[in-house]
Amino acid sequence: MENLALFYPTSHQAHYQPGHPERPQRVEAIREAFIEAGLWDGFQHLEPLALSAADLKHVHEPSYLARLENACAHGSHMDLDTYTTPQSWQLALNAAGGAAATAEAVWGGAIRRGLALTRPPGHHATSQRAMGFCLLNNIAIAADYLLRHKSAARLAIVDLDLHHGNGTQEIFWERGDVFYISTHQYPYYPGTGALNETGAGAGQRTTANFPLPPMSGDAAFAAIMDEAILPLLDRYAPEMLLVSYGFDTHWRDSLGHLQLSARGYADLITRLANWADANCQGRVALFLEGGYDLPAAGACSLGVAAALTGQAWTDSLGPAPYPESEGWKAVLREAKRIWDIGER
Ligand SMILES: [Zn+2]
Repeated sequence: MENLALFYPTSHQAHYQPGHPERPQRVEAIREAFIEAGLWDGFQHLEPLALSAADLKHVHEPSYLARLENACAHGSHMDLDTYTTPQSWQLALNAAGGAAATAEAVWGGAIRRGLALTRPPGHHATSQRAMGFCLLNNIAIAADYLLRHKSAARLAIVDLDLHHGNGTQEIFWERGDVFYISTHQYPYYPGTGALNETGAGAGQRTTANFPLPPMSGDAAFAAIMDEAILPLLDRYAPEMLLVSYGFDTHWRDSLGHLQLSARGYADLITRLANWADANCQGRVALFLEGGYDLPAAGACSLGVAAALTGQAWTDSLGPAPYPESEGWKAVLREAKRIWDIGER
């Protein structure tokens, strides 16, 4: 049996605003599901790395970091829907440090797979601003940490959240050392992530977007993974896969209209893990982003943990009870044209 390195954000409950969907119960539902399944104690639990100011400043502007720390001290909002509390600065540092610890544990090879329950989440945070419930961009900081400290040269971030990870895209837009790939509902918050957004400068053609119409589900994700994402990974040849794990793509989630099931999610992670086994020493780590339905939190997390460790499991929530729209087929066709991917 393969093991799983897990980061749990101790004390994260102090980042909380009454009535806000980005609430501590999201992570606690995952923890409880793992405990109930008898898995929690079998994971290798990780402590967050103490990141240096330079580690943060390589991803976020110094002026933004100062603004964020100050806002947290006062518990003020960063924008309309992005709150802070006096504990949020330390908790954001913990989440970013936990992401880096998870990436490092998997990179080093002691353990093949990682799951970081990063909260506050990160993928909307740009180099210069907090937004979409995100303060520090955890996955970007983790990837950059490997590139700067661990002799990594080429990494891929696959973002399976409901929303486009505009922050991650912006941070690596002009960098060729990280290939950012995202599936997301579109048009939708935050508005970015069109097919023709493919990077610039040294990062030209190292950003790939798959903007999906509402009601895209398991079949859409499976086809895009097999026919586009895996071929793009073949071409780029990353040394590790970092996955933005948002379970707001699940059909039960009230914030979006994609129709992925927990089984469908796990199957995507199985494909990525199999790709990693064949091409990059099995290195895969997941980093929590969004996801607001608590039963989906449990089912998706049990599913992806099973997929990461090659275990069997049962999807207690089943497939989406609605028919899947087929609008995604045109998106996939156009993506294959843009990326010059032939029939396999
Ligand atoms: Zn999201």
